[in-house]
Amino acid sequence: MILIGCRKKILIGSRKLTGNCLKASAKMRIAKGLRRTPDRAARAFEFLTQGYRQDLEEIINDAVFASDASEIILVKDIELYSLCEHHLLPFIGRAHVAYIPNGKVIGLSKVARIVDVFARRLQIQENLTTQIAESLMECLEPSGVAVVVEAKHLCMMMRGVEKQNSVMKTSCLLGVFKDDARTRSEFLSLLKD
Ligand SMILES: [Zn+2]
Repeated sequence: MILIGCRKKILIGSRKLTGNCLKASAKMRIAKGLRRTPDRAARAFEFLTQGYRQDLEEIINDAVFASDASEIILVKDIELYSLCEHHLLPFIGRAHVAYIPNGKVIGLSKVARIVDVFARRLQIQENLTTQIAESLMECLEPSGVAVVVEAKHLCMMMRGVEKQNSVMKTSCLLGVFKDDARTRSEFLSLLKD
């Protein structure tokens, strides 16, 4: 409920904000192009937070298959676009998702869909990384899951310290990736290839 109230406030806030821009620019006689901006911005915001309204089970269920595979399956370089929950500015990067099956595998495109479900919310990168890993752990019950996310944060690039080249890396290792050093180093070397 708190989250829904919060989203509503942000939506109303974004409309107000763009409405204010419109008023200010009307004075400067450049209002024409901004006339529909409050609505457009609100719709864009709806899209960018659609992960809240998506059902992960529905997305995943028809794409889980029985399998004897027992080696690392890695999906690398999944594009990722999210919004930081502190400034509502984008962070953009890539996710690398690996798991070791324990009887079940999932369609590759679904791994990317899982990333999107959590990326299209107001996020911090640390939580995004954990949520991707834990959801895979829950739906596939694999021997382990490893997720690495690397992203550039516009709130750091456009404002604040204005650093253009720093990349934030986060990881979440579960199961054998956490417990077994050999598996972990195999994953890390696959990431480098
Ligand atoms: Zn931020």
